[in-house]
Amino acid sequence: MIDILSADLGEVKAFVAAMGEKPFRAGQLYRWLHVTCADSYDEMTNLPASFREKMKLEAPFLRAQIETFQESREDGTRKYLFRLPDNNFVESVFMRYHHGNTVCVSSQVGCRMGCRFCASTLDGLTRNLTAGEILGQIEQIQKHVGERVSNVVVMGTGEPFDNYDNLVRFIRLLTDENGLNISQRSITVSTCGLVPEILKFSEEGLAVNLALSLHAPTDEARREIMPIANKYALSEVMPAMDTYFRKTGRRLTFEYALIKDVNDSDETAQQLGRLLKGRNALVNLIPVNPVVERNFHETDRAATEAFKKKLEKNGIHVTIRREMGRDIDGACGQLRKRYMT
Ligand code: SAH
Repeated sequence: MIDILSADLGEVKAFVAAMGEKPFRAGQLYRWLHVTCADSYDEMTNLPASFREKMKLEAPFLRAQIETFQESREDGTRKYLFRLPDNNFVESVFMRYHHGNTVCVSSQVGCRMGCRFCASTLDGLTRNLTAGEILGQIEQIQKHVGERVSNVVVMGTGEPFDNYDNLVRFIRLLTDENGLNISQRSITVSTCGLVPEILKFSEEGLAVNLALSLHAPTDEARREIMPIANKYALSEVMPAMDTYFRKTGRRLTFEYALIKDVNDSDETAQQLGRLLKGRNALVNLIPVNPVVERNFHETDRAATEAFKKKLEKNGIHVTIRREMGRDIDGACGQLRKRYMT
């Protein structure tokens, strides 16, 4: 049976044609699904009742529901918890930045990458999200907040490149001018570094921003905190990132969560500087969100500034990520975790 929430306009057109309906109905239906964000066929009042009844049988759909949300009193950041039709939960975050409203989406229920500092991976991977389920997080939040979302980051729970086909389908739906119409340059995909998928992604003709979760400048140090580093060495990951830059022209981002006494020494900053030198790169320093299950603490502000200065001496662009929503369940996956237990 067709998953209508994940179908692109071409597929919706083919489906509608096969049902013997007029072609323009496909566009109407697609708008109801992705612009109005209708919850059911009953809402689609400009479609003939007979067509809606047929669709209910041939292409039933259920959206995820907002189970709860928390709003930060400090900056208006909202954390949403969605209940999927199969009773799994995923989290998304809505943030207001000067350059526009941004939503951070999850790409999987759980994650199997096992990064030591990450709460999303503690219970492993439950399942992939469909393209429609990833997209739905943005559609539902936009409807709930009542403001346009202009930027999307795939930095919630899950490894997007471990759900490659649905990720690419999601991006094509998200950028479709008949749908949410978000521009490619306003989308960022973050990966822990799956080399074959980075290379494949550079061939998709999608000029979205790519961020690598680096977190350590040497294989040895990286393996301590990221199991994926056992599979792909930096000598493979960095050239793959360079290929992505060459093919798309998009500046690369390297995420670096500063963990006290783990990856924040002067020497580490030097190594990181050497690794990134000469690349058109932005380093995003993130004070690590403490995870109670692990014994990791954040680097203090002064040491973070010192780390930043060291990198800048090597000509590298560095930003320190502004912490949003400090007063609501902080780290990725923590709101969901509270509901699971
Ligand atoms: N799997 C992808 C995307 C999801 S994680 C990836 O690894 O990039 C999004 C970002 O949050 C990654 O950079 C990840 O390393 C980081 N992250 C995870 N747990 C964190 C924590 N406790 N504190 C700070 N950043 C964290």
